[in-house]
Amino acid sequence: MLDPQSTVHFSSVCFLARSLAHASHAYRDLATFARDTLYALGKLGLAGAHSIADLHAALRAEQCTSCNDYGVFLFLPTAKRCCWECLRHNPQLHLLSLKDAKRFFVLSKRSIEKLPRIHVIPGKYGITQKPAPEHCILTSVAAARALGIQQHGSPDKLADALSKRYSSRAHTSSRLLLLGRFFQMEPRPVACGQDILFLPTLANIQSNGLLGMASLPFPSLLSPGHAETGLWCEGCSSTLRQYSVSQLRGDILNTIVPPESGCHPTIVLMGLERRAYLRKAFLRHIKHCYGALQMVPELRDGAAARQKAARKH
Ligand SMILES: [Zn+2]
Ligand SMILES: [Zn+2]
Repeated sequence: MLDPQSTVHFSSVCFLARSLAHASHAYRDLATFARDTLYALGKLGLAGAHSIADLHAALRAEQCTSCNDYGVFLFLPTAKRCCWECLRHNPQLHLLSLKDAKRFFVLSKRSIEKLPRIHVIPGKYGITQKPAPEHCILTSVAAARALGIQQHGSPDKLADALSKRYSSRAHTSSRLLLLGRFFQMEPRPVACGQDILFLPTLANIQSNGLLGMASLPFPSLLSPGHAETGLWCEGCSSTLRQYSVSQLRGDILNTIVPPESGCHPTIVLMGLERRAYLRKAFLRHIKHCYGALQMVPELRDGAAARQKAARKH
């Protein structure tokens, strides 16, 4: 199947070609529900990187490809769905400059020419609305890592090459070694049914200020003609705010983040605030969300009635 760019070129050849291209239900779904994504792929220089079939498969999916959560975003370099937590914590969903790709994956000047180039669209990115650097060209950590492994022979040999390159104790060298080790890491394995928020985070999570670039909210086509985008819970934001000013009762906090989990409450509460839901799952969530029950008294009454009914049985 053609990629979006070829489909547009093909459809502009003649009326018959246009009819055939538009008759493709996959292309029609993408043009109807994910027009922004097709536009963004073109602007980033990734228009030919994915087939219509792959993009349509992502549109019809719901789950993050790295964990069990709903994948509210599409990571454009791979056209895979992902959640905020994985976008933040999975090094393989990060981006980096070509100069850093060369450093952290110990690549030659010539070999970095093989890496896909992502031309960042000027604008503000991420939760902090940080402006993108001007004329910014990036590549994906996943592509750089694959090339590094291919050139050095194995992940271990690649890690050795990095350690050798930055073996000096100078401050810059140890900082680059730390960053390189982070980008070379495998994502955390997530078992079926496991909540990623309660997994230990990777040590030394580094940020190169590029979080949020080359990913965007992506709808899910749940049935023909019916697509949904993610919903975020204002109740979870309220719970995080209460915790951050020490106004969340200890027993409530212990219910949300059981002390035996060994997890830091800030990490879990922040993760809950940034977790997105499809409508059905969201309606289930707010029936049990402490912040939502506080904000909407009608939900609280419903929860009390459910508890009463449960006690009777
Ligand atoms: Zn995820
Ligand atoms: Zn909530």
